[in-house]
Amino acid sequence: AHWCSPCRKFTPELVKIFDEVKDEINNKLDIVFISCDRDQESFDEYLRGMPWKALPFSDRNLPKLLGEKFNIDGIPSLVVLPPFLQIITLDGIDEVRDANKEALHKWSQGKRLFWTREPQDGEYVWKTANCTECFMMPMVVVRYSCTNVDCQIDLCEACLSKTKHKYPLVEYLIPKQQYSLEKILASIPYLLDPNNSDEIDIKNMWKSDIKSIGF
Ligand SMILES: [Zn+2]
Ligand SMILES: [Zn+2]
Repeated sequence: AHWCSPCRKFTPELVKIFDEVKDEINNKLDIVFISCDRDQESFDEYLRGMPWKALPFSDRNLPKLLGEKFNIDGIPSLVVLPPFLQIITLDGIDEVRDANKEALHKWSQGKRLFWTREPQDGEYVWKTANCTECFMMPMVVVRYSCTNVDCQIDLCEACLSKTKHKYPLVEYLIPKQQYSLEKILASIPYLLDPNNSDEIDIKNMWKSDIKSIGF
């Protein structure tokens, strides 16, 4: 909707990506705008910037029905469907944000971008994390990230061995799991880097008979 600022931010991004891939995907993917605008005028103005089709604004009932059918709880929202109304993905927005063109390519082949594997008994699931290389989402158990705060990288186990990275990567420790000191130290390699000039300050603490060590 034109009044919704996350929509107004996302739409031009999608327009740009759609224009770039349009020829490559050979019209195998179409986008239809379903408006939550408040009047015909803002609908017209918003649609003017879009290179795709739209449901007519006059039918105000259909957007509501579709929203209920696909459990849409906020906008912008992007549902990707194959020709025969199963669902490819309800996470269209996140897939575009994470992979740009690649998401649209996948959809045009009838596949979603995110994939995952079924967690085994008790395996930890990183609900909001996806592998930046293979787009495993959510990630299960193994999740590596970068020690450089400016890097937005997450890697699954398979991609870790295939990816060269400028800074040391660390494995996320799973919440509430117990680790040996060796394992904890191994998870912070930059502290063990002989060229690192940071001084390590080790504190021991006793609380309720439990000894903890902090850096
Ligand atoms: Zn991966
Ligand atoms: Zn990095």
